[in-house]
Amino acid sequence: MINILVYNNQTNRMEVHAKGLYEPMPYNYGRSLTVAEFRGRSNSDIIWTSRGVMDSWNTTRTAWGRPIYVGYAFRRIGEGGHSNQSQHYAGTSFDVGQNLSNADRNSLRNLAEQLGVWSYVEPAYLTPTWVHFDRRAGIPACAAGYPVMREGMVGVYVCTLQDALGTAGIPGVGIDGIFGPATQRAVIRFQSENGLTADGVVGCQTWTLLTSMTNGIWRR
Ligand SMILES: [Zn+2]
Repeated sequence: MINILVYNNQTNRMEVHAKGLYEPMPYNYGRSLTVAEFRGRSNSDIIWTSRGVMDSWNTTRTAWGRPIYVGYAFRRIGEGGHSNQSQHYAGTSFDVGQNLSNADRNSLRNLAEQLGVWSYVEPAYLTPTWVHFDRRAGIPACAAGYPVMREGMVGVYVCTLQDALGTAGIPGVGIDGIFGPATQRAVIRFQSENGLTADGVVGCQTWTLLTSMTNGIWRR
């Protein structure tokens, strides 16, 4: 079984769903996205996403009208494979259509743009052999990447933060998507150990250092 943490945009709460690999993802309609497809090449037994991301997937899959091959979606930051503040580590991003012809891939890319349910669809010149789309939330703390995080917040970026803190060797951080006192203590500890302002708020400097220290660390 895989534990799937889902941020429910409608209730502003985290949910935990336990599912088999070949069951559909929570909030997926028509079995068009299994846990195995979303987890992709990650080996993690805990993954996360949001209900909004699944809604965007459902809309895209329904409009496309046939299966969409998913090469890559969720990834733990320690597993690496992307830039330091990747939306794949937040469970909000898909790389799809690797099995399509160029023409079909362009159609899928255009469809994803036209539907307006994704925050970002990567242009063809950057990813000619697949289609990347993701759904983001909040204002990035740096020019790109994750939003500022502080105590009281919930959601997928809190999961990414907790994952990165644990990967950086800060003890006592579970992954539940809830930025409570234990997560705040872990942030302060990370900040003081690394010469950052120890205010417990994860802004651009803390995100940049934390993610660059942990990205891909499990395969080094
Ligand atoms: Zn991607």
